[in-house]
Amino acid sequence: MLDSQLSALREKFATRLQENVRLKNYTTIRAGGIADALLIVYDADELERFTKIVWELDLPILILGGGSNILVSDRGVRGVVVINHAHNISIHESDDGFCVHAESGALMSKVARLAINRHLAGLEWAATLPGTVGGAVFGNAGCFGKETSHNFMQAEILHRYKGKSIYTNQDMAFEYRSSILKRAEEPFVALTADFSVCPGDREESEMKVETYRQRRLKNQPPGPSMGSIFRNPPEEKAGRLIESVGLKGITHGGAEISSQHGNFIINSSNGSAQDIWYLIQTIENKVHQKYGIFLHPEIELIGDWDAQTVQEFARYQTVQENA
Ligand SMILES: Cc1cc2nc3c(=O)[nH]c(=O)nc-3n(C[C@H](O)[C@H](O)[C@H](O)COP(=O)(O)OP(=O)(O)OC[C@H]3O[C@@H](n4cnc5c(N)ncnc54)[C@H](O)[C@@H]3O)c2cc1C
Repeated sequence: MLDSQLSALREKFATRLQENVRLKNYTTIRAGGIADALLIVYDADELERFTKIVWELDLPILILGGGSNILVSDRGVRGVVVINHAHNISIHESDDGFCVHAESGALMSKVARLAINRHLAGLEWAATLPGTVGGAVFGNAGCFGKETSHNFMQAEILHRYKGKSIYTNQDMAFEYRSSILKRAEEPFVALTADFSVCPGDREESEMKVETYRQRRLKNQPPGPSMGSIFRNPPEEKAGRLIESVGLKGITHGGAEISSQHGNFIINSSNGSAQDIWYLIQTIENKVHQKYGIFLHPEIELIGDWDAQTVQEFARYQTVQENA
C-alpha cells in the first residue's frame, strides 16, 4: 500500500486501524500472511460506514467473517481487511410468520441456537455450521440436506455503486455453494439477513442438533482446517476419490491430508498456505490422472497469490463445472 493511502486510512480510522496484522489468527486453518491494514467492526452500521470510507479511498477491501472457508496467501492481503463482528440477532413476528434477523457477523450457530431457545424450528441444521451469516449467505453454506437458501428470506446488501438495497431470495440467485455475491465481479457486502423459522418443539430441535453434532464428531477430523476442500462430484464422494489414489495421511511441510477424511487438509504443524496449496495440487493431479476430472474446490484463495496459482485454481473451478 502506498504511504499516502496509509496516511489517509490513519486519518479516517485513527486508533481503530491496525497495521501489518497476521491473518493466520483470523482463519480456521491457521495459515496466511500479513494484511496491510485491518479494521474490526462490531455492528452493521459500522460495517456499512467503514466499507463506504474504504471504497471512497478507492482501496481494495476484503470482508472476513469466521475465516473458515478461505486460504490466505503467505504473502498476505493488500488493501484493507475488515473483520466482521457485527453480531446482533433478534426475532420478529409478522403476518407471514417468524423470522430471525441477524447482523452479518453473527455466527450461524448462534442464530440457530437463539431460534431453538425461543422454541422456533427450521435452523437446526445450522447449529453446528462454522462461520458467520455473511459467509453462509455468500457461499450458500449447507449441511445435513439443508442450505442457507432454504431459510433465507432477505438481506440488506451494500453495493459499491448502487448503494444499499434489499435482496430477496430470488435476487440472491442461490446455487449449490454459491450466490450472486460470490459470482459478482463488483463488490457487495451483506449487512444483515433474515431467516424464516416456525414454531416448533424445543426438545425435538435439541435432539436434531445433538444428532448433527455426533455426525460431525464422527466424520470430521479435529485440528485446524477449512472443512471440506472439494465439492462432491455428481454421484461420488471427493473423500473416496482422494482415498482411492492413496493420498490419505500424506504430509507436506506442516500440513497433512487427513488420514480420517481425505477431503480435509489439516494444518497440524504450523504449515504455510503454500504447504496447503501443494497438497491441493497433489490431490487435483492424482485424481485427474486416474479419473480424468478436476475436483471443484469449495474454498477460496484469498490475497496476493502468484498469477500461475490463480490461473490454476480458476481452471479447477471451471473444468469440474463443465464436466
Ligand atoms: C470444520 C469445518 C466444517 C465446515 N463444514 C461446513 C459444512 O458442513 N457446510 C458448508 O457449507 N461449509 C462448511 N464449512 C465451511 C464454512 O464454514 C462455510 O463456508 C461458512 O459459511 C463460511 O463462513 P465464514 O464467516 O467463515 O466466511 P469467511 O471464510 O470469512 O468468508 C468466505 C467468503 O465470504 C465472504 N464474506 C464473508 N462475510 C461477508 C459479508 N458480510 N458480505 C460479503 N461477503 C462476505 C468473504 O469475503 C469470503 O469471500 C466448514 C468449515 C470448517 C472449518
